[in-house]
Amino acid sequence: MKHDWDALKKGLSRFLPSKALVSKRQELLVYDCDGLTIDRNCPPLAVLPETTSEVSKIINYCHKHKIPFVARGSGTGLSGGALVEEDALLVITSRMRRVLEVDLANQLITVQPGVINSWVTRAVEGEGFYYAPDPSSQIVCSIGGNVAENSGGVHCLKYGVTSNHVLGLEVVLPDGTVTNLGSELAENAEIDLRGAFIGSEGTLGIATSITLRLLRAPESVIVLLADFQTMESAGQAVSEITAAGLMPSGMEIMDNFMIKAVNDLFGVEEYPSNAGAVLLVEIDGQVAEVQAAAEHAIQLCKAAGAGGIRRAEAESERARLWKGRKSAFAAVGKISANYYVQDGVVPRTSLPKVLASIERLSKIYGLPVANVFHAGDGNLHPLILYNPSMPSVEERVRDLGAEILKECLSVGGSITGEHGVGADKRCYLDWMFQSEDLEAMRLVREAFDPSNLANPGKIFPTPRSCGESARRKITLSTHGNDLGNDAHAF
Ligand SMILES: Cc1cc2nc3c(=O)[nH]c(=O)nc-3n(C[C@H](O)[C@H](O)[C@H](O)COP(=O)(O)OP(=O)(O)OC[C@H]3O[C@@H](n4cnc5c(N)ncnc54)[C@H](O)[C@@H]3O)c2cc1C
Repeated sequence: MKHDWDALKKGLSRFLPSKALVSKRQELLVYDCDGLTIDRNCPPLAVLPETTSEVSKIINYCHKHKIPFVARGSGTGLSGGALVEEDALLVITSRMRRVLEVDLANQLITVQPGVINSWVTRAVEGEGFYYAPDPSSQIVCSIGGNVAENSGGVHCLKYGVTSNHVLGLEVVLPDGTVTNLGSELAENAEIDLRGAFIGSEGTLGIATSITLRLLRAPESVIVLLADFQTMESAGQAVSEITAAGLMPSGMEIMDNFMIKAVNDLFGVEEYPSNAGAVLLVEIDGQVAEVQAAAEHAIQLCKAAGAGGIRRAEAESERARLWKGRKSAFAAVGKISANYYVQDGVVPRTSLPKVLASIERLSKIYGLPVANVFHAGDGNLHPLILYNPSMPSVEERVRDLGAEILKECLSVGGSITGEHGVGADKRCYLDWMFQSEDLEAMRLVREAFDPSNLANPGKIFPTPRSCGESARRKITLSTHGNDLGNDAHAF
């Protein structure tokens, strides 16, 4: 349905200052995609509220005039969640960046949704506290976006994902009503609607205030960097470390392609260039415990075939070892015109099998794939590299991405770990769920949003978004080695 955006702008300007309204096309273009740049569409109008009351008035206005809306934090999402596909209003939270309350006695902090993830730790680290969930995008992504995607990160192996750290939410429902889900109490009497909202990707309303759990900074931290000749041996080390009962706070693997990309980015050998894979292991806790666990992990890495092992204790040295991992996506951006990230999950024990399949598929499709992933969680992030100017390459990229997800499902995995379904993976949701499951999820959504105004079209497969052509019923036989001559798509 087409809306009269000039009239809507006029209506909204009755209660919003002019600086909160963006209507010029050249200014709106910066919002035409999120981190998934393969899909783009310029929104017709955007608003930048500053307070819960403003968000409530905007959404109530949308409700009355039947205008769909899409929430946006920092736009780093990797599944097209903040993409405005339909004629919808974009509601951006990047002016809602106030820390509302710090309660160290109860280890809580309450923030507006536009607050950047790493700012939360920055606000309390002087007092010996930190916020555990740390997506690699943490210097840019917003807490509201983290809640909507139930984001993970390096430390989520030991400490859990966003949902384990959000106690209470103030939410503007899709009719403009302001309500609270959960509270600062650890246990609540109500049905856990907070749990339903976290990970709902902006389809149940807009979070306007978020109460987070803070943790005490660990007494001691050691980071190990072990290099291996093969991905299999790095994966073996991860299995051994887990089987031995050690609980690192993070375990991350990068393949040779990614190692070289990172070294190229920094112009120095951050990681050994000839290694088939590097494994980063972080261990935290009390001094004696950390020292013993690190020694044990070193022995296990050696037994699995590690060549060199570097060990860092001082904060600056640890940051140095992590620098390459945290910059991995940016490094790929330097060597390839574009990339498409997948986000499948597999049981840890299936990592070698699925990684071998990805390598095979990469050759068949003639598209290079770089791997960096949360190895401890079995959460893969294959980055498919491509040059968008090549004819019909984007279709092949998506097909390869879909094939990778099928491999993940074939070993009992999932089509998404932490990046969400968004627009990108909605056509694959019914590969994982029965129609009854999808219907139950739709009913929850409908209970929050009977008019289907909040981020419409996202998450669920629809005939319009997932018709036969969009669904791309792919079979390997339709792609042969004839594509293999395109190995330098970037
Ligand atoms: C280089 C890079 C590395 C990344 N690493 C990780 C990682 O390690 N782990 C990980 O989990 N993700 C990672 N991501 C993905 C992304 O950063 C996360 O999904 C993040 O949580 C998105 O936050 P955002 O503020 O950018 O949200 P946006 O992209 O703006 O929005 C994401 C979704 O949240 C909804 N939304 C935003 N704000 C609100 C709100 N206040 N209320 C309701 N809905 C809202 C939007 O509608 C959309 O559906 C990475 C991305 C990049 C580019």
